[in-house]
Amino acid sequence: MNPPNCRFCQSPLATTMADLGIASAPNQLHHHDTDTATQRAQALNVFICDSCFLVQSPSHRYDRPFFVSDDDCAASSRQMRARDYTDMMIDRFGLTPENLVIQHVGSDGDLLPSFQRANIPVLGIPPYPHIAESFGGDFAERLTAEDKQADLFISHNNLDSVPDLNDFVLGIQTVLKPDGVFTLEFPHMLRLIQHKPSKLTRHNRVTYFSFLTVERIFSQHGLTLFDVEEIPAHGGSLRVFGRHHGYRKLPVTPQVTALRDQEKAAGLDKLETYQKFGQPPNGQN
Ligand SMILES: [Zn+2]
Repeated sequence: MNPPNCRFCQSPLATTMADLGIASAPNQLHHHDTDTATQRAQALNVFICDSCFLVQSPSHRYDRPFFVSDDDCAASSRQMRARDYTDMMIDRFGLTPENLVIQHVGSDGDLLPSFQRANIPVLGIPPYPHIAESFGGDFAERLTAEDKQADLFISHNNLDSVPDLNDFVLGIQTVLKPDGVFTLEFPHMLRLIQHKPSKLTRHNRVTYFSFLTVERIFSQHGLTLFDVEEIPAHGGSLRVFGRHHGYRKLPVTPQVTALRDQEKAAGLDKLETYQKFGQPPNGQN
């Protein structure tokens, strides 16, 4: 059987980072009754791409319920974060009733009511599989043809479970106005790698991102990640801010450079770091 190919760069996936079929606690998984042992084993194998360092499970299982992280499942905490986010975005980017906010709504909830309260027009896209088609290039083309382009595009806690990564990023590139901004949130590879392997059993996620790799993916689609924040969601996540390459009015912040340096210092640009992740500590099986 041929090895699967990398979800981003299409290189064959030859290196296993973790075989969670052995390392995981089964009661943390959300199996369907029809799952076979083979499917489960495949779903639990996490690969590292030797070429682009994208960490990924080759399994395309999008019918799983979203995992609700124990550290941030309180609705009140989510609402507070949503309000803080909305206020910050309106203030920082000067959003007005002339603008359009589009959210690809994910498991972290609907942020659009907060924008509506500020009289800013909104459009919500439910995540696949709640709609028949996932958000991507074709979907974004249709929105653009209807004159619905985003001044702000939001997709939080979706990037790591989208079926077609490159098509998803193309969708953002297509739907974003020339002077628009997008924000994405996703669990940070650096924090995951510092946790025990069982953390990765939350495998409704099919892809795990370092900032270095996600920056490379978006850059290939003409998008610059110009700012980044570390946030506590899901055990340690990144919130990245992006724009078109050509919209230089928003300069790349020192936080971007600092995070790149931090990840390089932690070895996230080296294959050995990921290979070591799945190995048991010395003296144990
Ligand atoms: Zn790759």
